[in-house]
Amino acid sequence: MTSCERLVDSGDVTPARLRAALGRFASGVTIVSTVLDDEVHGMTANAFTSVSLDPPLVLVSIAESAKMDDWIRASGRFAVSILHRDQERLSLHFAGAPLREPPAPAFTWRYELPFVDGALAHLACSVSDSHPAGDHVLHIGNVDGLWFQHGGEPLVFHTGMFRALEGQEEQTWGL
Ligand code: FAD
Repeated sequence: MTSCERLVDSGDVTPARLRAALGRFASGVTIVSTVLDDEVHGMTANAFTSVSLDPPLVLVSIAESAKMDDWIRASGRFAVSILHRDQERLSLHFAGAPLREPPAPAFTWRYELPFVDGALAHLACSVSDSHPAGDHVLHIGNVDGLWFQHGGEPLVFHTGMFRALEGQEEQTWGL
């Protein structure tokens, strides 16, 4: 059997099939957060990517229907916390998934933005551009400040499930 023969059925594009196909792309998980009038709002997002090193730009894709879109438009700033593998419950909480015993999120303040405690990396961003794209809005952020841990394992999202990296060896590719 060739690898093509293992591909599932037709080429039809529906939202459910698109989600299933894109779910094959493994990603990390972030919590995007911001503040307005001393009130903090956060949400879980994996549609996060680097855009440019110089100038330093990143992108988050936020559903137009999510409250976070209004919060980012109003505040003009957002924080990205890249989650540690132990932060699955927090990630569910900030995705609006009900938990019987929700963890109390703790925030660390940097550059007057709220970051989730215990994350692998924190990026403080100012919105440099926002582009509506279908049912999402692409918010591009200039990175004003960043902090990261040396070591620590990321939370991974793949095929709709949280996972952890396993069996990987330390590599020295200079990245
Ligand atoms: P709400 O749904 O009202 O809030 C989200 C949750 O965070 C609620 O439970 C709320 O109580 C809690 N919360 C917010 N602020 C605080 C606070 N200050 N203190 C304590 N709790 C607080 N959607 C996208 O648009 N883009 C993505 O890239 C994306 N990626 C996702 C990746 C994963 C792995 C998952 C599970 C979901 C993802 N989602 C994504 C879906 C998104 O996280 C949910 O739709 C989310 O509920 C949208 O949040 P909201 O801004 O509408 O606010």
